[in-house]
Amino acid sequence: MSIAQSLLAIVLEEAQRHGVQRITKVAVKVGAFANVVPDSLTFSFDLIKEDTPAAEATLEIEQIPAQGVCHACGAQIDMAQLVAACPECESKDIQMNGGQELYIDHIEAD
Ligand SMILES: [Zn+2]
Repeated sequence: MSIAQSLLAIVLEEAQRHGVQRITKVAVKVGAFANVVPDSLTFSFDLIKEDTPAAEATLEIEQIPAQGVCHACGAQIDMAQLVAACPECESKDIQMNGGQELYIDHIEAD
């Protein structure tokens, strides 16, 4: 619930700053490892958006695939499956790039 609440808080703040009366869509990007379940985020958001300018807004969640980079050979690694070692050189010195983030991509309004 807390993620949905902070999300709504940001959306309403943005709406107020731009003088928006009615928000129609909120597009959010979520990292693959951000521990966000899209269905439950949508569910929570729908519950708390009532009686706000975002009451009719649909929440659009796009999941960002996680990427990693190998420190040993510099290979870019697709972290869609949790990879324990670099597929190129088998080094375990892999740095995750992103995957944890959650941010608002854009907001649509009337
Ligand atoms: Zn490597």
